[in-house]
Amino acid sequence: MTSRLSFSVFFLASFTIPVLSHFEYPHLHQNDLLSNNTNPSPFGVLRNVQGCRKGENINGIRNLKLYLSRFGYLNYQNNPNVSNPREDDFDEELEAALKSYQVYYNLTATGTLDEPTVSKMVKPRCGYLDKETRQHNDGSLHTVSHYRFFQGRPKWPKEKRHLTYAFGSHFPTRFMRPIARAFNKWAIASRLHFTFSRARTYRSADLKISFQRGNHGDGSPFDGRGGVLAHAFAPTDGRLHYDADDNWVVGAVPNAYDVETLALHEIGHLLGLGHSQVRNAIMWPTFNSGVTKGLSSDDIRGMRALYGI
Ligand SMILES: [Zn+2]
Ligand SMILES: [Zn+2]
Repeated sequence: MTSRLSFSVFFLASFTIPVLSHFEYPHLHQNDLLSNNTNPSPFGVLRNVQGCRKGENINGIRNLKLYLSRFGYLNYQNNPNVSNPREDDFDEELEAALKSYQVYYNLTATGTLDEPTVSKMVKPRCGYLDKETRQHNDGSLHTVSHYRFFQGRPKWPKEKRHLTYAFGSHFPTRFMRPIARAFNKWAIASRLHFTFSRARTYRSADLKISFQRGNHGDGSPFDGRGGVLAHAFAPTDGRLHYDADDNWVVGAVPNAYDVETLALHEIGHLLGLGHSQVRNAIMWPTFNSGVTKGLSSDDIRGMRALYGI
């Protein structure tokens, strides 16, 4: 929750107008909007500055700054020595942030916005930060773990092992069963340290699952089709939101996202896991359409480590 808040403050300061559609970043010029029409991703504007590097000043570099700030790689707020994040200058701070992003995604740390990097950035993803979570380090030279926890390691208290969940109003019935399956998979992975059941009322539920659209009042507006697909809050907040503007299905369907796959990921956040650097982990931040994905050993190790199971 704390990591979300620090990001939200910056993000709100940058986007004072709610995002009305996925092409309408309020600070964009008309040219950006036109050239973006060929790209379905709200992050597609980044392609306009592909190839940019330190020392350059190109219209649109500020979008790269906003992207890296949004996902926790860049923090201009706490650094008064650097230039305005709304300006288009590619400074040292931006180069360092870009390298940090490239390292996180196993790309070559060139510090320039090369093609492999921009291709990774425009992929649909979870809205949660990648950084500002602490990497797990158990001090062992022989164990390499890539799961992460949130800063301060928020988790459910010891006595809270049975968690109830509820769906928001008008929640599609066909998506309830796959989400229940996702809860079951986490319960089994936890060796039943956690169990889950439907709450009697929405208000009384520990975990609240709903579809939301655009600016929906939690400081992290959704962005239309593509871009951010879903997000959830660290313990013990319990909110899990799907972006209603994305195409949701059950199973592997071309050009659509599997509700259960994203539920597995977001429940990981609800339980206290951050993003993993293991590509096959469910806690990896980006998602492909048309496929399903399950829990990996990295996810299960992370959860067991957090709760000492
Ligand atoms: Zn996530
Ligand atoms: Zn939300």
